[in-house]
Amino acid sequence: MTTIRMERLAKSYGDQPVLHELSLEVRAGELLTLLGASGSGKTTLLRILAGLERADTGRVVFGDTVVQDGAACLAPQKRGLGMVFQNYALWPHLDVLGNLALALREQGLPRADIAQRVDEALQTVGLAGLQRRAIHQLSGGQQQRVALARALVARPRVLLMDEPLSNLDAGLREQLRDEIRALQQRLGITTVFVTHDQTEALAMSDRIALLHQGRLVELGSPEQVYTRPQSPYAAHFLGKANVLDGHAEAEGWARVGQMRLRLAAPSGSGAVQILIRPEALSWAQGQVDNVVDCSIAQVHMLGPLREYTVQADSLGCSMVLLEPSSLPPHNGSARVHLPPQALRAWSDGDAAQPPSYNTARAAS
Ligand code: ADP
Repeated sequence: MTTIRMERLAKSYGDQPVLHELSLEVRAGELLTLLGASGSGKTTLLRILAGLERADTGRVVFGDTVVQDGAACLAPQKRGLGMVFQNYALWPHLDVLGNLALALREQGLPRADIAQRVDEALQTVGLAGLQRRAIHQLSGGQQQRVALARALVARPRVLLMDEPLSNLDAGLREQLRDEIRALQQRLGITTVFVTHDQTEALAMSDRIALLHQGRLVELGSPEQVYTRPQSPYAAHFLGKANVLDGHAEAEGWARVGQMRLRLAAPSGSGAVQILIRPEALSWAQGQVDNVVDCSIAQVHMLGPLREYTVQADSLGCSMVLLEPSSLPPHNGSARVHLPPQALRAWSDGDAAQPPSYNTARAAS
């Protein structure tokens, strides 16, 4: 199993900087997702790992092999990688076998070995027996499975995937997402997966690296980045977030509007922003601290849950709350509980801190 080290990678197109001295390490055997809005630099970074682009400065190291150091750059085919693209990138004039065998023939593998490897790879992705099928006779999901089999057939040490699920419809997308994750874990192959979809990232990653304008702004397990994001930007990107503006008071307390809220963790000093996720809010049931009178402004039925928008005048803001749909709205008004342990406070300046290199930050 191979680690991938990215050391101070910088890249500009003309005078537009796209990556700013970005450092990140992918652990051996993990699936790390590069997540970010369109234009944040994910694809550029992935292409640098693949050797399809060259960083202006910085180093890329796979295991013990330096694959880029400044101008010195190892060719893509010598890096031991498999790639899967959004648009499948299969050869339409070749059948499934032809697509999978191409790279192996170039390596000069004997015919019998090629046939065996192709059989194995197709078995792995659930397409056994489709060797002679033309590409246009396959569904989108099958084509993406062929692309995955092609990436795996040469037994790469690193798998790079660029939005591989975005062209599939919702049901298939979830199915293939789970299959890719299970396969990646079974093979233990170090994988970098690019997506702009936070649900996909949360569902399938060992760790998520969130990029924003060419910088790494968040790094950690799905649990860490969702529940303890390092900045309001990351909190909003990773899911629905209520962020309250307040002021730190005595240690463990913050003033928000006319309310004093108890926090489970120290709040720093001065101005603070406080995160609470919609599902962490609940109707108050006898609690004393952190209970807020609200009026219900809006209710949306979401199937198993209802999403309430509640106006909290004493906090000077509205919040979104998720509750099981069996609970009725309380005649237009409600008492809402903000559990202290679910409140995450940032003081000014927190957001300017970049995530530390290769270490998921501990909860603060
Ligand atoms: P993402 O994958 O996060 O959407 P990209 O890495 O594709 O982001 O792009 C990052 C920025 O670099 C964007 O502003 C994009 O327009 C620019 N960019 C990407 N490739 C090129 C290129 N070949 N020439 C010029 N600008 C580019």
